Amino acid sequence: LTQLYAPLNFLGFIYREIKNSLSDMERMFGILDQNQEIEDVPQATPLDTRSAEIRFEHVGFAYEPDRQILHDVSFTIGAGETVAVVGTSGAGKSTLSRLLFRFYDVTEGRITINGHDIRQYTQLSLRQHIGIVPQDTVLFNASIYYNIAYGRPDASHEEVLEAARAASIHDFVMSLPEGYDTQVGERGLKLSGGEKQRVAIARTVLKNPPILVLDEATSALDTRTERAIQDELYKITKDRTTLIIAHRLSTIVDADRVLVMDQGRVVEHGSHTALLQANGVYARMWAMQFAATEEGTDV
Ligand code: ATP
Repeated sequence: LTQLYAPLNFLGFIYREIKNSLSDMERMFGILDQNQEIEDVPQATPLDTRSAEIRFEHVGFAYEPDRQILHDVSFTIGAGETVAVVGTSGAGKSTLSRLLFRFYDVTEGRITINGHDIRQYTQLSLRQHIGIVPQDTVLFNASIYYNIAYGRPDASHEEVLEAARAASIHDFVMSLPEGYDTQVGERGLKLSGGEKQRVAIARTVLKNPPILVLDEATSALDTRTERAIQDELYKITKDRTTLIIAHRLSTIVDADRVLVMDQGRVVEHGSHTALLQANGVYARMWAMQFAATEEGTDV
């Protein structure tokens, strides 16, 4: 009986892990409690690449049948490139990342990775290729070690510490009396916004995905922390195909291209310099945001 019990127990563990990871992602995207039935097609193949080109081709999407959210959205993120999405609140920026992660399927057009519709790939392999650093990281009620290692549960102890160092959180963790065993989450030590983001960065470094989705925090971190986190984020975007929902001027300027969205449409698309020269919506946004930042306010 014991021989039978151990594997069953292990299966239970795996099941809980998968369930936890899914609900964590769903919470990150703020779409918990929503009924979605995304299933693999019968002949789905695993995505297996270190170099991913992403294309949105005439994508249309509606959460509810009578309210179209995205209209004819087309853009490409070349392998290793960074595209920053900017736009008004409710423009559909986060919806792009939810569709890429396949929490929902597009209702028109298609999204491809390396030329193939993402609906042709197994969901598991697709999601393994995408790392997400959300605005507000959800921590498990567990140790800091677990919260980082969760990025890749089979990582070695040294790799977990290495990821923490890369995210500049190792020294902070070591300064705590219980170090990596410190319990965090709702019932444990409350981490600050910046510390939570660093845990998310460490998780992502450990996962080492070829595709990144970064949702920059709008809430104000102090300037030094913000600058440091920017630098860490910038480092991890190197050589990865990255979609950033951007709120910071520095991120936008450093991106290869900027996508300007308004009410579910791409209204402008180009490099920061080209968009400024075009003297359109982006140039006006930039002038306003720049003035606001000069006064010390957030974008
Ligand atoms: P913000 O900058 O404020 O986060 P956003 O550009 O990321 O905004 P989205 O979150 O993509 O905007 O939302 C686009 C639109 O879709 C909004 O009008 C929103 O109300 C709607 N929406 C988002 N999620 C859902 C949902 N689960 N069900 C129905 N409508 C939704």
